[in-house]
Amino acid sequence: MAKYDVKSLKAEEFINDGEILETIKYAEENKNNIELIDSILEKARPRKEGNGLHCTGLSHRDAAVLLACDIPEKVEEMFKLANQIKQDFYGNRIVMFAPLYLSNYCVNGCVYCPYHLKNKHIVRKKLTQEEVKAEVIALQDMGHKRLAIEAGEDPKNNPIEYILECIKTIYSVNHKNGAIRRVNVNIAATTVENYRRLKDAGIGTYILFQETYHKESYLELHPTGPKHDYDYHTEAMDRAMEGGIDDVGLGVLFGLERYMYEFVGLLMHAEHLEAVHGVGPHTISVPRLKRADDIDPDTFDNGISDEMFKKIIACIRIAVPYTGMIISTRESEKVRGEALHLGISQISGASRTSVGGYTEEERPHDSEQFDVSDQRTLDEVVCWLMENGHIPSFCTACYREGRTGDRFMSLCKSGQILNCCHPNALMTLTEYLEDYASPETKEIGYKLIEEELKKIPKDKVREIAESNIKDIKNSNRRDFRF
Ligand code: SAM
Repeated sequence: MAKYDVKSLKAEEFINDGEILETIKYAEENKNNIELIDSILEKARPRKEGNGLHCTGLSHRDAAVLLACDIPEKVEEMFKLANQIKQDFYGNRIVMFAPLYLSNYCVNGCVYCPYHLKNKHIVRKKLTQEEVKAEVIALQDMGHKRLAIEAGEDPKNNPIEYILECIKTIYSVNHKNGAIRRVNVNIAATTVENYRRLKDAGIGTYILFQETYHKESYLELHPTGPKHDYDYHTEAMDRAMEGGIDDVGLGVLFGLERYMYEFVGLLMHAEHLEAVHGVGPHTISVPRLKRADDIDPDTFDNGISDEMFKKIIACIRIAVPYTGMIISTRESEKVRGEALHLGISQISGASRTSVGGYTEEERPHDSEQFDVSDQRTLDEVVCWLMENGHIPSFCTACYREGRTGDRFMSLCKSGQILNCCHPNALMTLTEYLEDYASPETKEIGYKLIEEELKKIPKDKVREIAESNIKDIKNSNRRDFRF
């Protein structure tokens, strides 16, 4: 039997089944141990250190105790703490992005995904470079600056050269004042050499969902194709980091396996990255299984309620305080609205999960990966965020200024976010308001920006931000950043 070793590079040792089962048992035994729960919450609170605030985060064992605890007052405390950590380290900014589906050709047999090889009736599409351009123009015309590209795994139809060509095309398009300034990539596990090529192509985060950390289930849920190889998939982030990608994004597909197993596995993965590479995951996504073409989520036994989903989000926020957290349009407006107060820092808006979907007048369903719950336009989402006290941010400055990996984390830890990310958010929001917003959104936005500018601590930084905002309003000058 494999032994737990956080620093091992072997999947079964750093995601260790024995350790996960022991942790679940420990959490069950202690879920009503108020003294222990209070001490864990205390440990997780932000505290002053030097000029900034610091959070230690929690081990997977401690975090599992919180997740297992269902004492209402304690859950309330967790929710409050999660919100406080989000506010302390990320402020009220919410980063915006959209997925861009390049191809749904896939040779895998994932039983929860409609792109699986045996699905013979789904329309298979792969964008040509001309079509990529058209999609990017449509996304730029909405106001998007940051994309996550998505593709099935198919070495013949979607080889790495195709992905690289698409990235080049995406970065080359500038329609009116539009630009895609950060391309994150969500493609199947690949080789160190290919990760290096992605890095050289200027990608932001490499995202790969584990789907499930439970090896036996993983093998059953991925019965055929290259994705069947659990170890290769689970060790992908180590290869990505070896290939020079500092920012990696983790996630599990909630609904496939028992949530507690996934939660512990996810945190063990984060601990492993930190222990081996000195930097934890840049983001964690929390997708839940959705209805899609020939996929019925009710045939899977491990669906989670909205309440449990919120608790998972809050506990992840508390356990890994410096990691960005992403929620997609798989979730409804209501759930997204609540999750934003529990630690989420990035959301997608106006997403289409079909290949070529952004250039269609009507939302197409024939090549969709999953049903989208939140179908609002980007303008509606931006307006809604601001009405609820958040600042929608289209900022992509960090990785373009070389603030990736631990350099981003130290910015986060040093409390300099208000002098850096905050003005960047306000300047990119101004771009959005000037170039794309409806009159109502514009009005709300400019009021908000006026108030938020006052929060920038350094006079010099505030003055520069104010002057840049004026420039954006009065000229076509764009892309200011700290
Ligand atoms: N093919 C790549 C891979 O294997 O990782 C790219 C990922 S795929 C385009 C994006 C993600 O969508 C998957 O990792 C999976 O978690 C999620 N997904 C697949 N089917 C889904 C469904 N029915 N509902 C919700 N999410 C789903």
